Amino acid sequence: MKLIADTHTHTIISGDAFSTLYENIQAARKRGIKYLCLTEHVYSALPGAPTPSYFKSMHALPQEIDGVQLIRGVEVNILDYNGHLDMPPDLLEWLEWVIASMHPTVIQPKDKKAHTKAWLAIAENPAVDVIGHCDDPRYPFDIDQVVHMFARHGKIMELNEQSPVTRPGGDIMRREILTACVKHSLPIVVSSDGHFVDKIGVFQKSIALLQELHFPEELVLNADEKRFAKILSEKRHKL
Ligand SMILES: [Zn+2]
Ligand SMILES: [Zn+2]
Repeated sequence: MKLIADTHTHTIISGDAFSTLYENIQAARKRGIKYLCLTEHVYSALPGAPTPSYFKSMHALPQEIDGVQLIRGVEVNILDYNGHLDMPPDLLEWLEWVIASMHPTVIQPKDKKAHTKAWLAIAENPAVDVIGHCDDPRYPFDIDQVVHMFARHGKIMELNEQSPVTRPGGDIMRREILTACVKHSLPIVVSSDGHFVDKIGVFQKSIALLQELHFPEELVLNADEKRFAKILSEKRHKL
């Protein structure tokens, strides 16, 4: 499987990452990545992360640098178990690639019922495109029910290359989520969630897992350039 987009990346602007945008672009280009989604954290996750004004300024970026398409995105924080997000709706609408994630620095893990409620609210939020690293074992949820609703509302599931390292203990959960994605025909993207240049466009662990599970390649949106471009044009169409 050859992946042509890295759908979740960070630069120094996030406050917890170590390379610049230009360095990430060069790493992406060298590894054959055609689309780079710029998905910085938002200020409520980390004091050093940017405020909405940074995201509004992304119109200043060219669409393409050195053959790599830049996708205006964000990794927005889920603030509570009603699914509120820490970015104004009009800005979320303007961005092309919105990942919604739970981070323990922002939302304290509670119980399965509460986590399920939050993901069901996210499923119904039209501003959210991608479900960020929901294989975090600190936030168990009703996988079958939630994945079914993600599929019904046109969401995309993320398979995050950093999850086994930064959110250990989620192996069984991750497999259950992927199995539910197949059952409910929910498409996925594989992402690096790279916080340094050496991680950008690197997906070995995720690809090995997909192969082991015989995961259908047609459900992997960033495994085919045409497939990914089509999804992106639909997202851009929402502008
Ligand atoms: Zn995250
Ligand atoms: Zn991230």
